[in-house]
Amino acid sequence: MNRFRIALVESGTTSTHVFSRTYLPRAGMPTLGAIMKNLGYHCDIFFQTMSPINEEEIRGYDVVGISSLTSTTGEAYRLADSLKRTGNTIVMGGPHVTFMPSEALIHCDYVVLGEGDATFPALVAALEKGESPHEIRGLAYRLEGGGIQNTGKSDFVDFASLPSPDFSLAPQIKPGKTPPIITSSRGCPHNCPFCCVTAVFGRKYRFKSNEQVIDELRPVLHRSVCFGDDNFFANPGRTKSLLRDMISKHAVPLRWSGEMAVRAAFDEELLQLMHDTNCRIVYVGIESVDPDSLKRLGKAHEMEMTSRCIENLHRYGIGIHGMFVVDPDDTPETVRNIVDYAIATDIDTIQICSLTPFPGTKSYNEHQGRLLHRDWRYFEGMHVVVEPKHCSAYDMQMAIVSQMLRFYDIRRVLRAFRKGRGWRVKYRAGGHYLMRKWVRENAQYIEDLRLGVYSMPADFALEAGA
Ligand code: SF4
Repeated sequence: MNRFRIALVESGTTSTHVFSRTYLPRAGMPTLGAIMKNLGYHCDIFFQTMSPINEEEIRGYDVVGISSLTSTTGEAYRLADSLKRTGNTIVMGGPHVTFMPSEALIHCDYVVLGEGDATFPALVAALEKGESPHEIRGLAYRLEGGGIQNTGKSDFVDFASLPSPDFSLAPQIKPGKTPPIITSSRGCPHNCPFCCVTAVFGRKYRFKSNEQVIDELRPVLHRSVCFGDDNFFANPGRTKSLLRDMISKHAVPLRWSGEMAVRAAFDEELLQLMHDTNCRIVYVGIESVDPDSLKRLGKAHEMEMTSRCIENLHRYGIGIHGMFVVDPDDTPETVRNIVDYAIATDIDTIQICSLTPFPGTKSYNEHQGRLLHRDWRYFEGMHVVVEPKHCSAYDMQMAIVSQMLRFYDIRRVLRAFRKGRGWRVKYRAGGHYLMRKWVRENAQYIEDLRLGVYSMPADFALEAGA
């Protein structure tokens, strides 16, 4: 039997966002690619953010799997529509379509609900044999009569048993140029109302063995490595054990970064190990400087804890990228207070996101009645998409833009340069450039907010419904 040829596409965006200058492909598709390859399939992977997808090339595959986030799902739907016209079987996955399967099934044949590591191979095997996939858990698809079959969410996989991501399956990545991103865990024990990690991957924090992580680190030790885990420090004992092994097994990268919660920065042993393994910067979910906002955002830390966290990290020479969220109950003054605080405490870099209700989150259920529109392209945190309670959406958007520009003011960049503050100069200059670019690219969106009209393509105006 001729085995199916599989293409896996990570849909992307060319619009500017906070990580535009540091794009690294996510590990999901290369992990699935490795699974398919181990099962004997020919599988290629394409990252749309790295270069445009050649649709003619993709048409030559039997099954095309497309993964998307909420902000890239519009582009994923466009690609799916185009490929379906020539008869490819299209399977979509990722957090957005997991919670919006009926919307996705307008564009594709099958939706993988939740983790695809077991569901996708089972589906491809059933398609090859011409069998019905009705017994495969974690799928949604249209029935001939027009209804939707939903086989329920897939079971969580044993993360430690999965192969390492195989980036060599991506023709866009040159041999020997493995992207320096390592995902050592899945899931998160917390359940923040604005985050869909727990809804997709569950609260059980699952991780790879130290040996596997170190094997994945070896080819990129000379690079600046990013631990792409949603919460690299969720189990501090495990993180410390990994960092200790990195030292004892001579697997310390040039430098590294990862996401952490405020509380994790009170463990002196952990901080010392981070310092000893060349941790350069951590992305800390500070979220707000307003106690009421912190409560609404489901955060247990208080402001004095945040200040201690910043001091502790700086004491060990570790930089902080402060991640803040402005929710619809906040005001432009809250945004100003965030930047006052960030400047006063010398946080190295920041991002201020407008609360974005991603499908599948508590915030989505809470705020969907107040969404300005459902143009998913703008659901990436930089755009105000929910009507604020105490000011106009335009005032809130302008408060975020002007305060971000204030933090990344070129005079602050120059001051950092004069003080010889090394990499901070580069990062802050990058922030200055990105914010100015973002404002230019989004002039129409800002104008729409000012006028209170939201120009939304018709195919985005779909009602949610799972
Ligand atoms: S925001 Fe971070 S800490 Fe909160 S649920 Fe998501 S991954 Fe976990």
